[in-house]
Amino acid sequence: MHDATRVIAGECTTVFEGTREREQRGDVLVVVKPDNTVLVHDAAGYQPVAWLTRAETVTMDGTRLEATDGDQHLAVDIHEEIASGRYPVSAAGEPVGECPDCGAALVRVAGAVVCTGCDARYGLPGDATVLDATCSCGLPRMRVERGREIEVCIDRDCESMDEAVAQSFDREWDCPNCEGDLRIIRRGGLMAGCEHYPECDTGFAFPAGVVVGECACGLPLFETAGGQRCLDATCDLSAPEVDPAQPS
Ligand SMILES: [Zn+2]
Ligand SMILES: [Zn+2]
Ligand SMILES: [Zn+2]
Ligand SMILES: [Zn+2]
Repeated sequence: MHDATRVIAGECTTVFEGTREREQRGDVLVVVKPDNTVLVHDAAGYQPVAWLTRAETVTMDGTRLEATDGDQHLAVDIHEEIASGRYPVSAAGEPVGECPDCGAALVRVAGAVVCTGCDARYGLPGDATVLDATCSCGLPRMRVERGREIEVCIDRDCESMDEAVAQSFDREWDCPNCEGDLRIIRRGGLMAGCEHYPECDTGFAFPAGVVVGECACGLPLFETAGGQRCLDATCDLSAPEVDPAQPS
């Protein structure tokens, strides 16, 4: 089911009280979004003449609309209503395919692919690229870099990125503290953590990048969007292993 947005066109007086006080009158378009954001638009520009973002409360009482958030207050008195209505709205984003459940457009928004027609939502890693390729389940596939390029379905219940990473890198590297194997695990984020946990609590967040070699410390070296880095984020690549200027 879709959230509804309320729209009112009419001749209104808008009074905003808060950081600054302002009263405006004119023929405007009032938009109340499902998250309680209220926007009052006049004839010019992209910016509303008055607004309150994600208000705590929005009430409609007769011809008066009021929105309150902390000590900010927005009141709109509708002197003459020209049109009003409630219309379905969805998230909008870059189209990436078609929902296999309802046939509506799937779009990429921050951190997820969502359906514009139903409740379907697939959380994505921030660095994921959604591909034109379609999974056998009907959803688009995505590419991420986790040690190597990995291509999986955007639905983790269909195909697990973690499993693909583990297939390539589980027990691939040694723990620098106890020589145990580093296992690929998820503890909040994806990690390479020592198999002897909790006796050994060595663990590294898995970087978004591909392995391009080995660091002087013995751990793998990753090429990431921010440049080369060691699996151990605290390992300083620029420091020479032995400082010749240092007296021994
Ligand atoms: Zn759908
Ligand atoms: Zn799939
Ligand atoms: Zn260890
Ligand atoms: Zn290192």
